[in-house]
Amino acid sequence: MAVGGTSGVVHPSTGYTVARTMALAPILAAAMVECLGSTRMIRGRPLHHRVWNGLWPLERRCTREFHSFGMETLPKLDLKGTMRFFDAFFDLDPYYWQGFLSSSLSLGELLLLSFSLFRNASNPSRLDIVTQCPVPLARMVGNLALEAI
Ligand SMILES: Cc1cc2nc3c(=O)[nH]c(=O)nc-3n(C[C@H](O)[C@H](O)[C@H](O)COP(=O)(O)OP(=O)(O)OC[C@H]3O[C@@H](n4cnc5c(N)ncnc54)[C@H](O)[C@@H]3O)c2cc1C
Repeated sequence: MAVGGTSGVVHPSTGYTVARTMALAPILAAAMVECLGSTRMIRGRPLHHRVWNGLWPLERRCTREFHSFGMETLPKLDLKGTMRFFDAFFDLDPYYWQGFLSSSLSLGELLLLSFSLFRNASNPSRLDIVTQCPVPLARMVGNLALEAI
């Protein structure tokens, strides 16, 4: 049963995982208790499937795509671009940047964060975003479309 780093809960942009894993532990335990405690004794692959879906509902899979998009975009920026990006990021309402770093924003809030970030960014930073992120953006949109099917 995948848990912790092996279950993909590592935040793609920050590498943090400990608090998130602990927050997900009750979900994992509840799914296992439900399966093993039922009279049908769900085990093996169906148990794994049930637990995995508990850890990774659709909304969380979509937000992970978004975090991965951030992870793929950042390394494309040079030093000045990275500094400009972080200036704009930490100028956001703390609710958004703290939420992003702690993986606690919904997909809708992540979209709002993106628009605010783009609006607040300096012109060179906007240019960086527009020129550097089309490939990761296309990948994210493709993956989100696959998730929605
Ligand atoms: C420098 C650094 C700083 C970090 N800072 C933070 C932080 O501030 N906040 C945060 O949330 N995260 C942080 N992380 C990430 C966090 O430490 C890891 O994501 C977390 O430890 C993963 O925990 P885990 O239990 O899933 O995996 P691990 O800690 O890797 O534990 C897996 C265990 O399984 C054992 N193992 C592997 N294969 C087998 C096998 N076949 N049989 C038996 N045992 C096996 C390994 O020896 C290991 O003990 C940091 C990581 C690094 C490297």
